[in-house]
Amino acid sequence: MSKSLLSDASQILEKALKYVSISDDATEHLKYPQASLAVSIPVRMDDGSLKVFQGYRVRYDNTRGPTKGGIRYHPNVSMDEVQSLAFWMTFKCAVLNLPFGGAKGGITLNPKALSRMELERLSRGYINAIADFIGPDIDIPAPDVYTNPMIMGWMMDQYSIIQRKITPAVVTGKPISMGGSLGRDTATAMGAFFVIERIMSKLDRHPQETTVAVQGFGNAGSVIADLLSKAGYKVVAVSDSQGAIYAKQGLDIPSIRQYKLSSKGIKAVYCQDTVCNIVEHESITNEELLALDVDILVPAALENQITEANVHNIKAKYIFEVANGPISSTADEILAEKGVLVVPDILANAGGVTVSYFEWVQNRSGLYWTLDEVNQKLHQKMVEETEHIWKIAQDLSISMRTAAYIHALNRLGEAINSKGTRD
Ligand code: GLU
Repeated sequence: MSKSLLSDASQILEKALKYVSISDDATEHLKYPQASLAVSIPVRMDDGSLKVFQGYRVRYDNTRGPTKGGIRYHPNVSMDEVQSLAFWMTFKCAVLNLPFGGAKGGITLNPKALSRMELERLSRGYINAIADFIGPDIDIPAPDVYTNPMIMGWMMDQYSIIQRKITPAVVTGKPISMGGSLGRDTATAMGAFFVIERIMSKLDRHPQETTVAVQGFGNAGSVIADLLSKAGYKVVAVSDSQGAIYAKQGLDIPSIRQYKLSSKGIKAVYCQDTVCNIVEHESITNEELLALDVDILVPAALENQITEANVHNIKAKYIFEVANGPISSTADEILAEKGVLVVPDILANAGGVTVSYFEWVQNRSGLYWTLDEVNQKLHQKMVEETEHIWKIAQDLSISMRTAAYIHALNRLGEAINSKGTRD
């Protein structure tokens, strides 16, 4: 049987634990998800038939506060995947020093096959099923792959109906009109951008001489491609689940984003005269994109994209993990041996949950911030934690991933020990 995603994800703990002095109790505690809920969600389909979907919510660890993490709608969602994602959220929140533990949720489905009404019934049904498991002081969901502000709005509304009181702080990533925060929609990419800028300046690399390939063109991938190209980086390749496009001289990202709004795949851009006229490009596969000879590779799609099977093809010098878990533990070791600088997900994509925290704070205080305030606070947090992790990595001559886990483990270990033994 192949190794579970969670056991692969938790491999890193063994490495990081060598450098931290936290108790065996704390270590044992962090190996297992605290609570895992599996639910069946019956949904009345538009044709009158009834269909039952499988959903999950996992609270991995709540020592540092209520648990926090997104909800994913995807055909590959499973309990194992959700537990791994909840594990990563626990460390991500600790890396950013947010007063949250880690959680994740998901429903196994192809969201593109459902109508808007079916999606709404499914989302409300999911909240009915997990309502006792979440709450503003218990566990706070947010968007993830194929979920968005509209879905978060339905979820917050459904929870408020159940509670008989408006409860905006139960979900983040909501529409602005329902208590969402300005800047939450671009936060994952913006956070990653701040991290990339800081690290590139440390390495004395200039945007104009730096080529980039971005895998994934969803909320995170499309915005990071845009931010990087506007800052002068040469974004030579982008992809979505259908395929990828490449242009040596750099792609016109705003036009491609505009084109994607028509909900056609990136590959179709190839034949579209509007974009072809602007920049000539060729169609390549996702595998070819990962193997491009670029300076920066940004995996911004799903987990397990770079594994033993393709790691030897990687030519990028720097990898910024905007997706969660895009590199398997074995591939990660091989990349380290090859001298590739990998900036891990729990730092690189933490901008999303950081602005989720800001949203939760605004909901609870009732005082709302301007976009500038949000982005300034995000910048400050991302830069501060990047500096900490960079320093740990330099001082101990270890990878940024191990350094990030050490940083998180120190905070988590302290919190676990402060609670004392409750057994
Ligand atoms: N789904 C995002 C992540 O993986 C955001 C989670 C949140 O905002 O709670 O970090």
